[in-house]
Amino acid sequence: MDRSTPPLNSLFQELILEHYKRPRNKGELPDPDVSIHMKNPTCGDEVHLQMHVKDGVIANAMFVGEGCSISQASISMMTQLVKGKPVDEALGLAAQFTRMMHGDADAARDKRMGDLRSLAGVAKFPVRVKCALLGWNALEEGVGKTG
Ligand code: ZN
Repeated sequence: MDRSTPPLNSLFQELILEHYKRPRNKGELPDPDVSIHMKNPTCGDEVHLQMHVKDGVIANAMFVGEGCSISQASISMMTQLVKGKPVDEALGLAAQFTRMMHGDADAARDKRMGDLRSLAGVAKFPVRVKCALLGWNALEEGVGKTG
């Protein structure tokens, strides 16, 4: 069920719904080094992010969650993007995504962001920005705890 996808560019909307219906890396990760649960009470979104972090690299990232298409598509795209990347690089991408959600046009054009650029239009809907950032907030908090 998709409650309320904002009226974004239709091509982008398709990509968001595609991730929402067929999320990447969804499921429980055995013996995670990082396990973070986050909620977005304004929308009712929930995500649970689990990661293996070895030698400063995100070796694996999986999630379970429920909520609106924006929140679930964002974390699906995020796990796809950060898996196999150094933690520092993943945090750089998190910062870039946050800039995109604040309307930064350069961030929205950054090819490193991959499918996540489809969420750039969410910046026009301040209430939904929290949905898009939920998975990223879990990532930032999670890797912060690995030291
Ligand atoms: Zn939401």
